[in-house]
Amino acid sequence: MSKNDFSSLNLHADLLKNLTTLNYTQMTAIQAQSLPPMLQGKDIIAQGQTGSGKTAAFGLALLNKLEVKRFRIQTLILCPTRELAEQVSKELRRLARSIHNIKILTLCGGVSFGPQIGSLEHGAHIIVGTPGRIEDHLRKGTLRLDHVNTLILDEADRMLDMGFQDAIDDIIDQAPSENRQTLLFSATFPKQIKSIANRITKNPVTVTVASTHDDSSIEQHFYSVKNNDQRLQAVQLLLLHHRPESTVIFCNTKIETKEVAEELLADGFDALAIHGDLEQVDRDQALLRFANKSASILVATDVAARGLDIDSLDAVFNYHIAHDPEQHTHRIGRTGRAGKKGIACSLISDKEFHKVSLLEDYLGMEIKTEELPNRSELNFEPMQAPMATLRIDGGKKQKVRAGDILGALTGDHGLQGKDVGKIQLMDNWAYIAIKRELIKTALKRIANGKIKGRTFRVRQV
Ligand code: AMP
Repeated sequence: MSKNDFSSLNLHADLLKNLTTLNYTQMTAIQAQSLPPMLQGKDIIAQGQTGSGKTAAFGLALLNKLEVKRFRIQTLILCPTRELAEQVSKELRRLARSIHNIKILTLCGGVSFGPQIGSLEHGAHIIVGTPGRIEDHLRKGTLRLDHVNTLILDEADRMLDMGFQDAIDDIIDQAPSENRQTLLFSATFPKQIKSIANRITKNPVTVTVASTHDDSSIEQHFYSVKNNDQRLQAVQLLLLHHRPESTVIFCNTKIETKEVAEELLADGFDALAIHGDLEQVDRDQALLRFANKSASILVATDVAARGLDIDSLDAVFNYHIAHDPEQHTHRIGRTGRAGKKGIACSLISDKEFHKVSLLEDYLGMEIKTEELPNRSELNFEPMQAPMATLRIDGGKKQKVRAGDILGALTGDHGLQGKDVGKIQLMDNWAYIAIKRELIKTALKRIANGKIKGRTFRVRQV
């Protein structure tokens, strides 16, 4: 028996037998690391991405613990979208095939309440749902969490991206805190996730499968350039060659960020500049549009990029190689996170070559410059960002919630959850990222529809 056999775990025999029929022979890395502590009843904080087998990991832990004869809601699983909630329920049903009379209920927005209330009246063991709708049921009194002893947050980072922080806090407040096992799964760990994890888990075991920041996941390239014209051309060729969805280009001065962004924009790239001269609101809006993938290139100085809390940059470009090796490492460390591959391209002029020797000593590797991509082999189609942003003139003060906006967009055969990206609520307005090709449809739905019984002004920013 290898140590990754499911049979090495203390699982009920019927669950184990079913795993063989599902053809799950060996545990995946996240399962091997998280199942032993979860089965001991410990809280965990796990880095789990789609495809890692995270659903079966928490699914087996919760099913092993569930008391089927006690017909009470014992597990609550929160997911960011209806699609994920449905996927989770489906996987749980597969894992629970050998357990009779187990009731799993999916509660998501965008559909009417009536049938959900009917199902809740019949009772359930496990609820899988989106925070907005779960919160609505709690408010209506159609759902109670008094008997919940396992709480799971799946794709916690995405839930926060979608503006569900308040809803999640509200839900957790209504679940028992004594004897509750809390399992938090997230692909990335920005500050907000760390803080929610601290608040809701007790002595958690941390499970990291792929390192969140592993230098070997960054592919570094160096190019030699003669002057600034050549720098700009090199950047364009490299962008067209790699076609990254999100890139930060580091410049040394404010003026340079403006010039580079303007030139790129003029050539059809979705670029934005951030530098110290911007008003706070313009800076926030630029960062927000970049973070929600409505702009694919951010041109920044090191200082302006300081507050950038984005975990999944595809590429970092050094318009000029950084002043020193620490700064270089810090810049490129913004890509290649969360188990993803990242690209770092650095441009070096003759005058800057002394910095390369320093970097070679620091990294303990020889740096060779490469040829730029060949024009004739490039795809010159415009590189548009995948999303676009709507701004609604209604926010927290108008009691608009992320779930209300999502409901207005996705209800009655509207958009699908996967077409909607980040939803960010401000005091008096909200920003919503929508797949670029659906932006007009989304705009019309909001302009002609109602949110909380009211019509709000909406525009694309
Ligand atoms: P997830 O990361 O939860 O979305 O799971 C990814 C896929 O892997 C799903 O289709 C699961 O059914 C499958 N899967 C999960 N665990 C195992 C395992 N131990 N062996 C084989 N397949 C698995």
